[in-house]
Amino acid sequence: MTPEVEIALLRKLLLQTTKAYDTQIAQVAVSEQALRANEQQLSLVLDNINACVYIKDKDGHYTYANQALCELWKVSLDDIIGKTDDYFLDEKTTQSVRINDRYVQATERVFQTEEKIQVHNEPIPRTYLSSKIPLQNEDGDVFAILGVSTDISDRARTENELNLAAMVFQNSGEAILVADADNKILTVNQAFEHISGYSSEEIVGENTSIMRSHLHETDFFTDMWNALNDKGEWRGELWNRHKDGSHYAVLATITTIFDKQGKPEKRVALYSDITEKKNNDQLIWRQANYCSLTGLPNRNLFSELLNKQIENSPRSDQGFALLFLDLDRFKEVNDSLGHHMGDKLLQIVAERLSAAIRTSDSIGRFGGDEFVILLSGTTNQTDISRIATNIIDSISQPITLGDNEFFTSISIGITLYPDNAVTVSDLLKNADQAMYAAKQNGRNCFSFFSNSMQNDFNYRIQLANELRTAYQREQFYFVYQPIINLKTGKAVKAEALIRWNHPVRGLVPPNDFISTAEDIGLINELGNWGFETVARQVKLWREMYDTELQVSINKSPLQFRQEDLCGLAWVELLKELDLPGDAVVIEITESTLLNLHSSVSKMLFDYRDNGIQVAIDDFGTGYSSLSYLQQFDIDYLKIDRAFIKNLSPENTDMALVEAIIVMAHKLGLKVIAEGVETKEQADILRKANCDLAQGYYFARPLTTDDFETFMFG
Ligand code: C2E
Ligand code: CA
Ligand code: CA
Repeated sequence: MTPEVEIALLRKLLLQTTKAYDTQIAQVAVSEQALRANEQQLSLVLDNINACVYIKDKDGHYTYANQALCELWKVSLDDIIGKTDDYFLDEKTTQSVRINDRYVQATERVFQTEEKIQVHNEPIPRTYLSSKIPLQNEDGDVFAILGVSTDISDRARTENELNLAAMVFQNSGEAILVADADNKILTVNQAFEHISGYSSEEIVGENTSIMRSHLHETDFFTDMWNALNDKGEWRGELWNRHKDGSHYAVLATITTIFDKQGKPEKRVALYSDITEKKNNDQLIWRQANYCSLTGLPNRNLFSELLNKQIENSPRSDQGFALLFLDLDRFKEVNDSLGHHMGDKLLQIVAERLSAAIRTSDSIGRFGGDEFVILLSGTTNQTDISRIATNIIDSISQPITLGDNEFFTSISIGITLYPDNAVTVSDLLKNADQAMYAAKQNGRNCFSFFSNSMQNDFNYRIQLANELRTAYQREQFYFVYQPIINLKTGKAVKAEALIRWNHPVRGLVPPNDFISTAEDIGLINELGNWGFETVARQVKLWREMYDTELQVSINKSPLQFRQEDLCGLAWVELLKELDLPGDAVVIEITESTLLNLHSSVSKMLFDYRDNGIQVAIDDFGTGYSSLSYLQQFDIDYLKIDRAFIKNLSPENTDMALVEAIIVMAHKLGLKVIAEGVETKEQADILRKANCDLAQGYYFARPLTTDDFETFMFG
């Protein structure tokens, strides 16, 4: 029975009752029996309805209560009659109930309201829907209030819970979507609108596929639907399409709600946005696997790629080549031009390398100036050599950095899989050793790995360890190779060449240890010691033999980086020794000039201002540019041995050497031919107007004693 029906019934009964009483009073003729029967009937109904029924007089005293109220308050009817509410209820409830009662009295109208009733000894208040009916006497005065209160606590709770659920749904930080079994979207919350870009109006009624990103394989969705239909739930990371077409990643939990027959009825999807996390993950992954400067895979990722290639090789039955590349003299560039320019250079090199290989090949940067290339599908040395040559050519093209044109070169070591090695670490080690061999061969070239390189490698490590102590133990000395005036045939100058007298190995040639001394940072100390040693020797000879002897000394490009000790320091030393500047010549390589070191030109001008002459060594092997030399006030050009070796009237080297001599003379430079080993070579050079010559044909590098004998007899 609903409260409304109950009230209507009660009203009817009460009317009947009052009518009956009225009749009794007015007529005093109604039979007592009939009355009692009526009363019994009434209380039977009242005691069995599912609501509290009560009558309170004007002052709030109970004059009637039905069974339900007695039960609620756990008292008998007698205990209720004559009492007021405060006896049973707490103060707050009593007051609010009294206010309602007074309202009915005042308005004389039926009043329906929700009342929160806190009964003594109950934990939480109950909610009642109360109908309060004024009982009026014949004059229309309210003499009592009839109340009918139905306990609606359960309903109120459910309603509350529903409100709460709706609130949670709307305000949840997680996006929520509810769809029917056919994936038609039924409702979404605010968070969903936010994350998807669709308003509720736009998307309700659409199919969930509207959000599909195409970033997943079809298998992905098949698996998802299988899980949803079988287990009722799917959880995982999902890329969805935003309304604007972009993609966002969510961690999704999709739950199927089944109907009573076990058929899917609805699906509820909860999404939390993990795009940022995904992007961060991706960023972290990129940082861990790629070089930020060049965008190339780093050592980590490249080693992984290499490993994969090895794993796949047996299946594809194809070998591959691993190239280890190292820029020549990069340290100088970085130190002289600054790291910013160094970085730019590396970027340009990376671009050129990438352009020189096929898309099926891989390239990585191992840090510093080291790069690696994997040439897949070939172990053919001719093919690989061609690619290596292309790379070397492309790197040696001029590089424009800022206003300057700049030159660099690269050395490449090559190893083959599976011929030379079958593991990542062995392959890398081999390629590194082959690269070192390329450096030893004069840089700007490539070299294939061979087993003897392993021994070379160990030798090199050993030497590096021994070099420092060798310097401290004074195991170095100089030999002097006479330089002959081709016109007079007389020795007029000499080149000082360093020697290492190793206690066990014997004589170690400079080509074996100069670059190591550069690598371990010993070159300056060694160079300064060398300059002083040579200068003192020249001083001695000049005094002893009263000559104009001039001795040249080699200076590594790396020595130009130490400004305080080079340049003016050497000038000072000569002054201290009371030697004129022209007692020495400084031999530098072209790369020293090409690397545009501002302090290089300053030092060269310092030398010139103090009468010290400068020679360009090994001319013809680098990026020989005579016009370039013009800027630097150079005195001598030493034509490299490689050109002299093949000199004969018929070959092209002849033409080249002649051209160099003519042009050098035009620029005011004297020419020295290196490595003259035969009379024929000497004759040709003399005819070609070469000024000076040096080589075994005239004299080998000599110890000081032998040199004295040779020169001064
Ligand atoms: P370099 O400056 O080109 O010196 C000439 C090299 O050619 C010397 O080798 C010399 O012994 C060799 N040579 C001279 N005439 C002939 C010839 O007719 N035939 C052949 N096959 N070779 C000839 P060495 O002494 O072994 O020096 C090699 C290189 O080591 C030098 O090449 C130079 O670059 C470097 N070096 C030598 N001494 C010093 C030094 O004190 N400081 C620096 N930084 N480098 C040095
Ligand atoms: Ca030299
Ligand atoms: Ca030389």
